[in-house]
Amino acid sequence: MSKLYFLVGSQDLYGAETLKQVAADNKKMAKFMDSKLKDTVRVEVLPTVITSDSCIEQIRTVNNDPECVGVITWMHTFSPAKMWIKGLQLLQKPLLHLHTQANEKLPYATIDMDFMNLNQAAHGDREYGFILSRLRIPHEVVVGYYEHEDTIEAIRKFARVAKAIDYSKHLRVAMFGNNMRDVAVTDGDRVESQIHFGWETNYYAIGDLVAIYKKVTAKEIDAKMAEYKKKYTMKTKNIDAVKEQARMEVALDKFIEKKSIGAFTDTFQDLHGLKQLPGIAAQNLMARGIGFGPEGDYKTSALSAVFMKMAEGLKGSTGFIEDYTYDLTAGKELELASHMLEVPPAFAATKPEIDVIPLGIGNKEDPARLIFDGVQGDAIQVCITDMGDRFRIICADIELVKQPKKMPKLPVARIMFRLKPDFKKGAAGWLYAGGAHHAVVSTALTRSDIEMFCRLTGTELITIGDDTTDEDLARYRF
Ligand code: MN
Repeated sequence: MSKLYFLVGSQDLYGAETLKQVAADNKKMAKFMDSKLKDTVRVEVLPTVITSDSCIEQIRTVNNDPECVGVITWMHTFSPAKMWIKGLQLLQKPLLHLHTQANEKLPYATIDMDFMNLNQAAHGDREYGFILSRLRIPHEVVVGYYEHEDTIEAIRKFARVAKAIDYSKHLRVAMFGNNMRDVAVTDGDRVESQIHFGWETNYYAIGDLVAIYKKVTAKEIDAKMAEYKKKYTMKTKNIDAVKEQARMEVALDKFIEKKSIGAFTDTFQDLHGLKQLPGIAAQNLMARGIGFGPEGDYKTSALSAVFMKMAEGLKGSTGFIEDYTYDLTAGKELELASHMLEVPPAFAATKPEIDVIPLGIGNKEDPARLIFDGVQGDAIQVCITDMGDRFRIICADIELVKQPKKMPKLPVARIMFRLKPDFKKGAAGWLYAGGAHHAVVSTALTRSDIEMFCRLTGTELITIGDDTTDEDLARYRF
């Protein structure tokens, strides 16, 4: 289970009695936060920082504990910030500065110099905030009494993002085949994305998968088919084509399990030894939180896995999506997002139907895929691009809507949405910013989650939404 350490600052100037009280308060506060947050993250107290050496020691604990995804820091008393410099320079995990107090109310009738000395976060946290800023350490600030619901929820949000960053740092991405020929935005610098986000992205020949695929047993295929029949409606009579997908999914599952892979890509241009492009196989894996990018798009695949992790425990849908076509009726413009095949069933508003229909590309057998209408509601659409000298994340607020009319001849999953602040500014903003045609859509996450992720990972972010102006569009250009 992931944990956040609670690291509190003081100093040895006040004597043993005060430090004993500080330690007792820290323990009590950590216990309270742990009880409120334990569904998301555990909270564990560390010994109080009272010298530069003790700070270094505790930060080492934070760095070295594989279960720890971040640290909550707070100054109970004054804690001279030069004591924190060397420790903070070592820190390798997300940091939350919790500006709080052990006491909620000021005891007007009884407050004396001892009480004020013991409880001086308004003083100590300013000294500490300065050094975080001076050291340019990416961090989040949460202000409020630690027992208040809104404070706890703000810490929970940090915990979700910190868990996603930890997941990102350990994520392995498998590319079956390479990037689709001639396509630009889906390509990228895999050395830089490993340095920046931690993604270990490696190419595997499709033959490596085919070798496993050939050994999949009839029993394993039957078990997978039983799962499909339970989760989805079998519309097709071409059961053999569906079995082909089941066989591919079992093979993919074995491959990613063995190599601890959390996200993968394939490409219709490299399917040697397979009969179909993975359709349901990819869709059903996405339903289990495995990241996916088509056409060798490793960045979107990795980002979708990281955001699915961030959305864990939240209501809503998160997954890969591809921009396709518009309804340009003036004032009622809508976008239809879909894909040739691989839309995650997380977006299904209706029970997905399995059908087998020609793909039109790749020269393979007709692939079985899941077909459904998408969910509705407020969402974000997020993409990642490689700008040459940096990665850029673009986050647009959108509204998923019901498709105005049926599309009986479009045999893929369909998601429709409205751009914000309006169609023209929303689309122009995305285009000026160089936004991709692959993205991650989420009804569970919000812009503020992505903002926090970008701040903590030092990633450029462009946002598009109701606050976007014409002046913004000019700024987005490069
Ligand atoms: Mn594409």
